[in-house]
Amino acid sequence: MVKIDSARLMGDLKRLADFGRYKTGVHRPTYSADDMASRHWLAGRLAEAGLVPEIDGIGNVLGRVPGSGPRVLAGSHTETQNHAGWLDGSLGVIYALEAARAIREAGAPGGGAVEVGSWADEEGHFGHFIGSRSFCGEFSEEEIDRSSDRTLGTPMRDALKTAGLAGKPRARLEPGRYSAYLEAHIEQGDWLEANHLQIGIVTSIVAICQYRVTFEGTQNHAGTTRMAIRRDAGVALTRFCCAIERRFPEVAGPRSVWTTGRITLDPGAPSVIPGGAEMLFQFRDDNPEVLARLERTLFEMAAEADKAGPCRVKAEALRKSTPAVMDPKVQSAFDAAAERHAPGKHTRMPSGAGHDAQYFAKYMPAGMLFVPSIGGISHHWSEDTKEEDIILGAQVFATAAADLLRRSE
Ligand SMILES: [Zn+2]
Repeated sequence: MVKIDSARLMGDLKRLADFGRYKTGVHRPTYSADDMASRHWLAGRLAEAGLVPEIDGIGNVLGRVPGSGPRVLAGSHTETQNHAGWLDGSLGVIYALEAARAIREAGAPGGGAVEVGSWADEEGHFGHFIGSRSFCGEFSEEEIDRSSDRTLGTPMRDALKTAGLAGKPRARLEPGRYSAYLEAHIEQGDWLEANHLQIGIVTSIVAICQYRVTFEGTQNHAGTTRMAIRRDAGVALTRFCCAIERRFPEVAGPRSVWTTGRITLDPGAPSVIPGGAEMLFQFRDDNPEVLARLERTLFEMAAEADKAGPCRVKAEALRKSTPAVMDPKVQSAFDAAAERHAPGKHTRMPSGAGHDAQYFAKYMPAGMLFVPSIGGISHHWSEDTKEEDIILGAQVFATAAADLLRRSE
């Protein structure tokens, strides 16, 4: 039986939160000095655990175990959103480290071992899921040339150079090496807490579909233009937003979510009727049929609004991902481990947030484990999880990893 060391686990999580500490959270954007210091610290901890550490040319930190025998890959990310929480990403990386240590100490049959990965820039300071995509061979040199920091504008090439990563080779996934990819994460929502549960087993990671809706009216004087003859693009946009709130609940799935994240009015002045308006709109779900229905509804609504006038309305798709289904065998390994350590306190659920596991799921059986977020808060420095939930989650994670190694022997 694999037993995690809870003091060692909590010690490492708290030590990692020292890098870039901000209030009770962390400010550790990708390739910043604090981020790089934390990556070197992690490499040191991997070495102390008997793994062979490497920081590759994109900043991925890997801990490998040479020799033959079954291998499971586990990890997440260690950089943070700006002024964000201490557990987002870090929890999954330290769980992976602790599982690797605990399984090594217990001795897995057939020389089985957990290898660890901390994937660079999951949080998208320079792009999206750069580290995991690089490892899976889905991130080109040209994309590095094109990318820059969304907050500071620093070109990615310059940031890599400053971080000491320029010219280093990028590590690549060895096909067939791993029987599974496992990732733990805080839930970042309140489903587990609201239902008095301690473990979530992810069934799938939702797809994100993003659209731009533009409204074209006539810019004119806000004092002299009669209401009856106005073509106000701002009014057309707000009407459209309200219509979404009426229509979407009729066609959405039980866990669909939708958001108007940005609205811009042109020219955006108090005494000018907006001649143009634009909104960025996004929805998420894990069911392809629901996603298709939501998209159809959005385009129909835009066509109707355009026909009704007085403004021209156009909707266009900007980016669409596909839902990533988590492997049934990995789900049942998590299920069995959860039932053993937290009987009746676990559930299966979709992930409303994107995670590195969605890329790994294309190349090997992948699965995810959630622990509760207090108040459902994340991407904010006040993000937290009860210590007992952190420890329980790590034990369930390690037990499932050991079980998968045993089964793949
Ligand atoms: Zn995360």
